[in-house]
Amino acid sequence: MRIDVITLFPEWFSNMRELGVTGRALRDEVVDLRLWNPRDFTNDPHHRVDDRPYGGGPGMVMQAQPLADTLAAVAPGTATVTLLSPQGRRFDQQLANDLAGRDRIVLVCGRYEGVDQRFIDQHIDEQVSIGDFVLSGGELAAAVVMDAVLRQLPGVLGHAQSAVQDSFIDGLLDCPHYTRPEIWQDLQVPATLLSGDHAAIATWRRQQSLLASWKLRPDLLSRAQVSGQLDKQDYELLQAALQTDMTE
Ligand code: SAM
Repeated sequence: MRIDVITLFPEWFSNMRELGVTGRALRDEVVDLRLWNPRDFTNDPHHRVDDRPYGGGPGMVMQAQPLADTLAAVAPGTATVTLLSPQGRRFDQQLANDLAGRDRIVLVCGRYEGVDQRFIDQHIDEQVSIGDFVLSGGELAAAVVMDAVLRQLPGVLGHAQSAVQDSFIDGLLDCPHYTRPEIWQDLQVPATLLSGDHAAIATWRRQQSLLASWKLRPDLLSRAQVSGQLDKQDYELLQAALQTDMTE
């Protein structure tokens, strides 16, 4: 996969090259990350890329010309050009999976008060928001999107099953996880996880996923129900878990 990021702060992404899951994906060349700075493409002799908003008001607006010329150099071809924006479609696991299936992703990071609307109208195919709050720039949002996408790519995670177990992958929250020691501050790891019985462990994990979703994100459970992701055994598992929960 190739990812082009248009950003006034390419240095912002240097940690991603070094650390964790994204670092591995980049080092192993699972992804080819290319960073483009509109300052390198501005016609302004002082390398300006922003100006005051027409109509007045606070802040500055990113100009269309440097962005459009940067995008021309990126040459997205048929790739979707995505602007990170609080006005966009809310980013979620489904969109991460969708993006992970593409050959190329082009991300445009806004700054200041935002981007000249004419650039958006002419060149942006989709806008993506990482939540109903306002960040100072699109870089953090682009990093969130890239991290969620890269961990879906084959060979990026250390263990083949890691992403499969994550929250949202099957429409539910993840189950609880435990590691050594078996007893910590008098608290015991659930016996099933120590049993070595893989079928029983899988059933326990599914039940805990259902219970966590019921308690913390009932909307997810309803959606999984509507989309047919729950079967008869799931309802029985949840019912049994709720009964145990109430008697504890
Ligand atoms: N004036 C804009 C508004 O209220 O919609 C906010 C501009 S914000 C200070 C600067 C840039 O940060 C935006 O152009 C966008 O690229 C990015 N940004 C801010 N919040 C975001 C969010 N929730 N999701 C994705 N990008 C965001």
